[in-house]
Amino acid sequence: MKFQNIENPPDYIDPATQETHYGLRRALRGLKKEAKKTWQLLQDPFGNYQGESLFPSHVDVLVIGGGAIGSSIACFLRDRGMSGCRVAVLDRDFTPNFDLPEYARASTTFSMGGLHHQYSLPENIEMSMFGAEYLRNIKHHCHLTGGEEEVPDVHYTPGGYLFCAGEAEAATMEENHQLQKKLGVHNVLLSPPQLQARFPWLNTEGIVLASLGMEKEGWFDPYLYLNAIKKKAINMGVEYVRGEAVNFLRRSNSGIHMDSYDDGAYQAVNECVVKDDKGEMKTITFAFCVIAAGAHTAQVANLLSIGDKEASQGLLFIPVPVEARKRFVYCFEAPKGPGINMPMVVDPSGTYFRREGLGNYYICGKSPAPQEEPPVGDFEVDYAYFNNKIKPHLENRVQGFEQLEVSNGWAGYTDYNYVDQNPLLGLHPAYFNIHFATGFSGLGIQAAPAIGRAVTELLLDGHFRTIDLSRFLLRRIITGDKVRETCRV
Ligand SMILES: Cc1cc2nc3c(=O)[nH]c(=O)nc-3n(C[C@H](O)[C@H](O)[C@H](O)COP(=O)(O)OP(=O)(O)OC[C@H]3O[C@@H](n4cnc5c(N)ncnc54)[C@H](O)[C@@H]3O)c2cc1C
Repeated sequence: MKFQNIENPPDYIDPATQETHYGLRRALRGLKKEAKKTWQLLQDPFGNYQGESLFPSHVDVLVIGGGAIGSSIACFLRDRGMSGCRVAVLDRDFTPNFDLPEYARASTTFSMGGLHHQYSLPENIEMSMFGAEYLRNIKHHCHLTGGEEEVPDVHYTPGGYLFCAGEAEAATMEENHQLQKKLGVHNVLLSPPQLQARFPWLNTEGIVLASLGMEKEGWFDPYLYLNAIKKKAINMGVEYVRGEAVNFLRRSNSGIHMDSYDDGAYQAVNECVVKDDKGEMKTITFAFCVIAAGAHTAQVANLLSIGDKEASQGLLFIPVPVEARKRFVYCFEAPKGPGINMPMVVDPSGTYFRREGLGNYYICGKSPAPQEEPPVGDFEVDYAYFNNKIKPHLENRVQGFEQLEVSNGWAGYTDYNYVDQNPLLGLHPAYFNIHFATGFSGLGIQAAPAIGRAVTELLLDGHFRTIDLSRFLLRRIITGDKVRETCRV
């Protein structure tokens, strides 16, 4: 198939009607590719083959976005014994060699890797509990068969979250605590005097109630998690393709009937146009596609006319409500700070901080108020935001933080669901084979294993089997239903 105008491709024309030998030629091309791949695997059966050197033209499931979410989906899908199911992960931002910097713009790379169970929605609690179990046993779950290679250690550091509530949030905290207890979470509520006794360095002024995680909460290295899950996926046969999804090809199909479309008007999509790292255009045909493109998911959805204001079909008119929101993380040194006896503290102002390592280093951040949202585009760190909006809270809250020194910081983009800040999962109502997994808005890393399992269930079983995430289905963008999580960092 040739592309005359790849920026704005023409309507799909079935090549079989244009070229009588197309089927044979395609089969020969496929055989040639398979032979080349087999040869490559024979040269290096387990070691360094990264699964991306050959371009797959046909797959069963194409995952667009190979960050923590996309890679977890691919890994769980293969792990359900689907050796006959060809799974490819497409990402524009990785290098074939694990030693080189990769995922330089992905949210996964910039995440703080925090995990807690103190949510108000049972779905979020259960996902993070599964995440904790999975991460603490990552060596077992991501064990590689054959070869000498080790699963990367994700440096899981056990450490409770301490959420501090002011007058306005105390009742909700108590209510959430009851639900958490019912679901098997082990945390305790502390009054200000109890808080003071446990953490003498904490100024309890303005705190009415606090909730401290006692078990399984903590933080880990998100990049190492991505490496572990990706290596496991590749080890099981998932193919990683370096390239950018730049278009989808449509195919008129009179046999498919969709609600709100006239007979014969529905155009199915089963081919993605990919710009590879040399700038060449190629296509991947798929049976199912999962879009897990993080903060850029709405742009990929646009390629499917989702969010097209000119669209005649109501289902396509509404965009996938995910956008990139810039977040800063600051690192500082405080030789007189609390040191090791310090949980991840979330102050009533929304400022959060925790120790980093065993020295006198700490990291912190704060989600900006709507009117303070920083402009998107670059990775510059705004140190004035630290000085004006965060530092005063740190100095006030912790004895020993008065003389802190900022050492550095980083900026990253989160996949923010601007409608209800909760995950958006599953089929788009206008397509029978396009799934989404996006909009995690600050909990995507801890949820990644649970999302990998949940999307696999949707694809293979047609419904959720373990954690019921029906309230997170993407179709709520059409029905207008919102899900509210009251415990956000
Ligand atoms: C500063 C910061 C701190 C955070 N802290 C936490 C935390 O403590 N705990 C927590 O649970 N979560 C946290 N998060 C959120 C978490 O990092 C994200 O929710 C999660 O990483 C999302 O993973 P993802 O795989 O969906 O997205 P990403 O990691 O962004 O991966 C998406 C991938 O899609 C690829 N892609 C995009 N468009 C295309 C295209 N057209 N073609 C091909 N590939 C494409 C990109 O290259 C990218 O690699 C934090 C986020 C930030 C920014």
